Amino acid sequence: MTDCLFCKIISGEIPSKKVYEDDYVYAFEDIAPQAPVHILFVPKEHIPMASAITSENSGVISKIYEAIAKVAHEKGLDEDGYRIVNNCGENAGQTVFHLHFHLLGGKKLELKMC
Ligand code: AMP
Ligand code: ZN
Repeated sequence: MTDCLFCKIISGEIPSKKVYEDDYVYAFEDIAPQAPVHILFVPKEHIPMASAITSENSGVISKIYEAIAKVAHEKGLDEDGYRIVNNCGENAGQTVFHLHFHLLGGKKLELKMC
């Protein structure tokens, strides 16, 4: 999608601090980190949000979770734990409409759910 921030990051048109990449997934450091480790995992295919996941495109979700587990392990987060967050839509505070999962860790995170 031409007018999508994260599509432009994936293509390299907009710079990012890449953490991980494979054929399906791209991961980069969040520009405004909320924790010592704050990495965004996105599908290379433009999927706007979690509500747009279908049986046709859902395969990439397992790829994303595999990538998160790999990176979290490499970052030494396994023992203390970490959080994976997906905001879907306006009420959840989604600001970039290209599906993404936040990996947050490196400190004791608040237990606030809403
Ligand atoms: P969300 O609020 O769930 O839609 O998350 C969007 C995230 O994208 C926020 O945590 C932003 O800090 C992050 N973000 C916005 N622009 C950039 C950028 N150019 N590079 C890296 N992260 C970004
Ligand atoms: Zn996109």
